[in-house]
Amino acid sequence: MAAQILDGKVLSAQIRDKVAERVCALKEQGVNPGLAVILVGNDPASEIYVRNKEKGCAETGILSRTIRMDAETSQEDLEAEIGKLNADPAIHGILVQLPLPAHLDEQAALAKILPEKDVDGFHLVNAGHLMTGTEGVVACTPKGALYMIRSTGTELSGKEAVVIGRSNIVGKPMAMLLLQQNCTVTVCHSRTRNLAEHTRRADILVAAVGKPGFVTADMVKPGAIVIDVGINRVDGKVCGDVDFESVKEKAGWITPVPGGVGKMTIAMLLSNTAEAAERTLSRE
Ligand code: NDP
Repeated sequence: MAAQILDGKVLSAQIRDKVAERVCALKEQGVNPGLAVILVGNDPASEIYVRNKEKGCAETGILSRTIRMDAETSQEDLEAEIGKLNADPAIHGILVQLPLPAHLDEQAALAKILPEKDVDGFHLVNAGHLMTGTEGVVACTPKGALYMIRSTGTELSGKEAVVIGRSNIVGKPMAMLLLQQNCTVTVCHSRTRNLAEHTRRADILVAAVGKPGFVTADMVKPGAIVIDVGINRVDGKVCGDVDFESVKEKAGWITPVPGGVGKMTIAMLLSNTAEAAERTLSRE
């Protein structure tokens, strides 16, 4: 039987609707949530992502401010801009659009964002919170992927979860979130031997590799939940890391690309921004 589709459009709309309600409640209490996005240079893919974020803010009532900086911007100027936003009470979330031009130090820039305004969840303090299971900001893409997994209603405790990819922004935080759900988690990467032997055991399989069609049906356990994080462009068309057509015949649930995890990432960014604004109220 063909897999059920985990529709990112439907699931992300649920989150955006809740964010819009939370934003209304915040405004009633005098807080107008604000998200600032710093865009350095004019990478076309980044321009699209930034426009989608502005659109998401408009739909949920979040104030959006985009700071465009020249491709030649110095590290000092970038960090000075982050410092200004850190000090600005109208801004609750700060996001530096990645990748930055090669001459800039991404890690150093991200470290300058106040952890409580780090709505991407990339700051070392927030990575540490996730690692230790304490309250912090959770990275948007893995948070969105977990929402999709949980939307299946499957009891996750004790399940075998396999994550392919170990990046700091997707693979590792995804593994941590699944561990918190009491899954038995295996993280695979480019040096993993006999990859398919691992993936075939997975009740939950997350692909975050960046290689089109990398996960094929023979690598998937029948009935598995398959989450495709990959965003690849082939002949101008966007596709994921999973060979959707073959895998959908074997999996129990599957996310499409486009229309899957990507939609959830933006919804979780808006949710993290509302959360950051809510925290300012609880600090008062
Ligand atoms: P990275 O390139 O940072 O990480 C890719 C991971 O895949 C690495 O850990 C790498 O292993 C592993 N890998 C590469 N080749 C193999 C292989 N042959 N077998 C097993 N593992 C392999 O990518 P990201 O994590 O940043 O992103 C992954 C994908 O997700 C990309 O397509 C990206 O565009 C997409 N993405 C989508 C988002 C969304 O909103 N949907 C958000 C962020 C990313 P090693 O560590 O050993 O090199």
